[in-house]
Amino acid sequence: MRRMIAGNWKMNMLSEGALQLAGALRRGADRLGCELLVCPPATVLSAVAHVLLGSACQTGAQDCHAEAAGAHTGDLAAPMLRDAGATHVILGHSERRAQHGETDAMVHAKVEAAVRAGLVPIVCVGETLAEREGGRAESVVAGQLAGSLPHGFAGLVAYEPVWAIGTGRTPTQADIAAMHAAIRHRVGAAIRILYGGSVKPENAAAILALPEVGGALVGGASLDAASFLAIAAACPV
Ligand code: PEP
Repeated sequence: MRRMIAGNWKMNMLSEGALQLAGALRRGADRLGCELLVCPPATVLSAVAHVLLGSACQTGAQDCHAEAAGAHTGDLAAPMLRDAGATHVILGHSERRAQHGETDAMVHAKVEAAVRAGLVPIVCVGETLAEREGGRAESVVAGQLAGSLPHGFAGLVAYEPVWAIGTGRTPTQADIAAMHAAIRHRVGAAIRILYGGSVKPENAAAILALPEVGGALVGGASLDAASFLAIAAACPV
């Protein structure tokens, strides 16, 4: 399966920086043996998608509402994101779960809305440090998968241990491989499973070579074109 390297810009980037970064990715994306995706904030999504149109890098969104339209001030519907140029949408990121109280049921509804709008969902799951230290990492992730993925799910799953996001810490390779194997067991053979959490150019090759790792979801290092492209170049072909 071709690997995907997806960048989550989170709440970063004004127009000028976003366009510069998108331009650099457009120039660098061609020679890579993996799929490339960037998920900018919604304010620059359309402009970034325009720069990347026809390139080897696709554009995604970071969240969507579960309804297609309506009285939801400040929210964005999946058809709007599709209309702005998104092909994918990240759903259930741990920052949305923790900061906006998103439950598995809410993520489930958003996944269905994304699919109805023609977006490919990337559903994030992952345990906290307390859950890992308590020996509950696999059962927590299994519960998130069961609650968040609709029957017949055909998007991507991103395994992102909460304690590894933005911290510079990563699980051992054995722990990443074990969790990816456990997720594979639950989602079937066709789903790509990304690893996310402090992926950098320095650790990307080792992580991306692990069995069942179908790519990476990258936060901090996706804000720098050279770092993001170096991670993509580390994909085994
Ligand atoms: C993320 O937020 O999805 C992420 C993986 O962040 P970072 O790469 O900065 O740990």
